[in-house]
Amino acid sequence: MEIKKLGKADVVVIGGGIFGCAIAYYYTKNNPGKKIIVLERNELCNSATSRAAALMTIVRSKRSYIPLSLETYKAVADMEKQLGESLDMRTVGMLHVAASDARMKDLEELMEIAKEFKQPAHYISNEKAHRMCPWLKTDEAIKIGFIPNEAYCDPYLLGTFYARCAKMQGADIRQGVEVKELIMEENNAIGVNTVSGNIYADKVIIASGAWAPILAAQAGIGLPMAPVRSQYWITEKSGIFPVDSPMVLLPDAQAYARPEGGSLLFGIRESNSFSVSPKDIPSDISHFSFSPDRGAADLSEVIDQLARFFPKVYDIGLKYYIAGFSGYTPDGNLSMGIVPGITNLLFATGCVGAGISVSGGVGRAFAEMAEGRHNPFDFSDFDIQRYGKIDPFGNEWLQKCAYARSKKVSG
Ligand SMILES: Cc1cc2nc3c(=O)[nH]c(=O)nc-3n(C[C@H](O)[C@H](O)[C@H](O)COP(=O)(O)OP(=O)(O)OC[C@H]3O[C@@H](n4cnc5c(N)ncnc54)[C@H](O)[C@@H]3O)c2cc1C
Repeated sequence: MEIKKLGKADVVVIGGGIFGCAIAYYYTKNNPGKKIIVLERNELCNSATSRAAALMTIVRSKRSYIPLSLETYKAVADMEKQLGESLDMRTVGMLHVAASDARMKDLEELMEIAKEFKQPAHYISNEKAHRMCPWLKTDEAIKIGFIPNEAYCDPYLLGTFYARCAKMQGADIRQGVEVKELIMEENNAIGVNTVSGNIYADKVIIASGAWAPILAAQAGIGLPMAPVRSQYWITEKSGIFPVDSPMVLLPDAQAYARPEGGSLLFGIRESNSFSVSPKDIPSDISHFSFSPDRGAADLSEVIDQLARFFPKVYDIGLKYYIAGFSGYTPDGNLSMGIVPGITNLLFATGCVGAGISVSGGVGRAFAEMAEGRHNPFDFSDFDIQRYGKIDPFGNEWLQKCAYARSKKVSG
């Protein structure tokens, strides 16, 4: 009932994950006096966001992500000042281990990209890498690059930093409010129908994560992304996992790792990633069974590859298993922006497992676009129409997106 009295907002955002919260932060910061409402059907950041390994990778082979991630680091510094609290981001750096000619070439390119973006990066010896990460066996490494400014964080805390700052700046953030339908007048979005009534707005932003294709379909858009499972494990504590050791990318084993308070958090890319139709995911993700065997079969498939670099993996105890869905695309590029011909509807979607890292850039971009201003970032690689017409619920599409994750070798 209360919502019915709200009348009209300038912007309504569907979804209170890290994208929705970051948009609210930038929108209220850059447009004082304007009204933005964020609607989250559960609790803030309950879904993909709180499950992320939260590597905030800056230097990547995909250049178009880099300015977005750099913006996240700026936002963190600003929000820490605003809240008078530390996010306790861990700037431990990232080791990139190349153990084949193909991956060595990738690493050399990456080190050039680091230079291009003025990020410190240098090669280090195998012995030094092993001293920094005593769990890491480096005998097979041909070259190891170190990028010292890379960090990880607590993703839930970062999401709620955005939300708390947004609230301080005037955002109206509502939890427990589910959006049932977009309200469209032909090809123009004018609001949303929620469990408690209608909210009208000049701009509607879909930031509903794995479920985004369901709402997009109501506007006639086949949103090119599919929910694909990511999974990782956290080991028991051991002296071989120093708390401030660097994060490690092992592209030859399609694996990554980072310290987690005296344990090791590590993830793999299984050869058959698991994707599912957005329509088959319950609205509360905690009711979804990602893997009855807690990923054991997938891990055993790649364990020998991983053991080349992490021999202790055979006998270390695994204390936690975490899984969740990210919106993947066949080319590994984000899927977001606007669609010509559909007015006042924006898509902050298709995060490709990098949403924590790029959240600052995504938040700023949508805050600008929602006001009809120029997007300060280049979104041309992320164009929603780049695949033409697709059926985001069809098996063929779901498989294509899952395959893209299986082949992913970057962080
Ligand atoms: C296991 C795992 C590891 C990851 N590791 C990393 C990493 O190392 N680095 C990195 O950058 N990223 C990582 N990610 C990806 C990152 O978590 C996501 O990119 C990011 O959280 C996406 O944020 P989001 O806001 O789009 O989605 P979500 O956090 O899923 O938020 C979407 C929200 O929309 C709400 N919603 C949906 N439909 C409706 C509706 N109809 N009405 C109201 N609310 C609705 C949902 O309840 C949800 O809260 C990882 C993800 C997983 C699962």
